[in-house]
Amino acid sequence: MTTLADPVPGGRPGDVERATALSAELTGRGVHGIVLAYVDTAGITRVKTVPTAKLASATAWGVGMSPVFDTFLANDHIVTTDVLGSPDGDLRLYPDLDRLVVLSGQPGWAWAPVDRITQDGQRHPACTRSLLRRIVADAEREQRLTFRAAVEVEWAVGLGSAPDGEFVPAVSGPAYGAIRQVELSDYTADLLAAFAAQGVEVDQLHPEYAAGQFEVSVGALDPVAAADRSVLVRQTIRAVAQRHGLRVSFAPAVFAEGVGNGGHVHLSAWRDGANLHSGGEGRYDMTAGAESFAAGLLAHLPALTAVTAPSPASYLRLRPSQWAGVFTAWGLETREAAVRVIRGTAGQRAQQANLEVKPVDLAANPYLALGALIAAGLDGLTAGTALPEEITGDPARLGTEEAAARGVRRLPVSLAGAVAAFREDEVLRSALGPVLADAVIAVRQGEIAAVDGLDDAQLAAAYRWKY
Ligand code: GLU
Ligand code: MG
Repeated sequence: MTTLADPVPGGRPGDVERATALSAELTGRGVHGIVLAYVDTAGITRVKTVPTAKLASATAWGVGMSPVFDTFLANDHIVTTDVLGSPDGDLRLYPDLDRLVVLSGQPGWAWAPVDRITQDGQRHPACTRSLLRRIVADAEREQRLTFRAAVEVEWAVGLGSAPDGEFVPAVSGPAYGAIRQVELSDYTADLLAAFAAQGVEVDQLHPEYAAGQFEVSVGALDPVAAADRSVLVRQTIRAVAQRHGLRVSFAPAVFAEGVGNGGHVHLSAWRDGANLHSGGEGRYDMTAGAESFAAGLLAHLPALTAVTAPSPASYLRLRPSQWAGVFTAWGLETREAAVRVIRGTAGQRAQQANLEVKPVDLAANPYLALGALIAAGLDGLTAGTALPEEITGDPARLGTEEAAARGVRRLPVSLAGAVAAFREDEVLRSALGPVLADAVIAVRQGEIAAVDGLDDAQLAAAYRWKY
């Protein structure tokens, strides 16, 4: 489990001694530096690095970084809110030693996610990792609820030798095909080795549908650890690719047309150690709480897309009949519904049953996405919201009237539509807090302005190599 307490200046009890010993051990293993990573509001992972010898001091006092990145755009332009985006001020980055790993794909380096606090030792209101820690801690304290989560990662593998900015797939075989697996045999074997060495439990890795596309699914963890893992998985995929002369894209839409890269979130709520999605009296053995949790997700999904699909390019991916889940509907193992109910295999259901949320991509900040999804689900659970009838098949085939009668809504078709829904959603805005909610709106508006006048092909190209 992730430590849910905030970092404190001087270090929490025992932290500095632990960091000192770790630093000596890492030096002995040939690690020269530590990558300190966090994800900004636009979904870009930003880093600082420190020499291994500075790990104890970073653990005690943090490492400086401007708060301005909270309103950076994917193109590195800066927007402002009432409180963010100024050149003034500084924050301290605190590595989470529990998550520190030696990077197999980057010899000489270790990696750790950070929490960001102010120089006065206060929580920084735009630190998304701290926000998710708080949401999880509050749910546990107030409602005895815990969560398990995992982020699936899809990515497109291209040739490193492709002309600048272009994507040339590194494989030519059919989707899910054995040819593709052979074509990238060495790369994917090195990837599996790197994941294993870094303690990333892989469930499966396979060639996917789109050009050059692969997918890895990983084991579920507590939400903060799951978000950390998602960032680490991408760092690893990128680093190992580079050593093989390959270049990878996690963009929602590598091309304007066709199937994109998803970042589906698997999520389950637990009370007193029991999975609410199994062993209940509701549909598919869901408990009443699990049904209401799913209903909460569905109710807030249009607004959630401002967080889970945060790029203008996200809406090139969010199209019907491409398994991206663009309708507010749920179904058992239905890959066109936004919320796919997974019961798991008979005999393993108490462990495996969960909800898969599909309209999420890898432009999303995973801490923010998980925090917002959990807040939406909890809103449904607390209110006892009724879960509508399930759907089967592709909701795209339903006529307008039937869809309306069943409460099946198309998710926003543009980032502007998602922002409009987010603005109206008091529950999500208050879950994020005013500083982050304003940052989300300002950054999304900045992204929209940045791509004004681009056609779809130019839009895909603009974000192809950003995430
Ligand atoms: N690539 C699809 C997406 O954009 C998902 C395919 C799948 O279900 O794994 O979400
Ligand atoms: Mg997939």
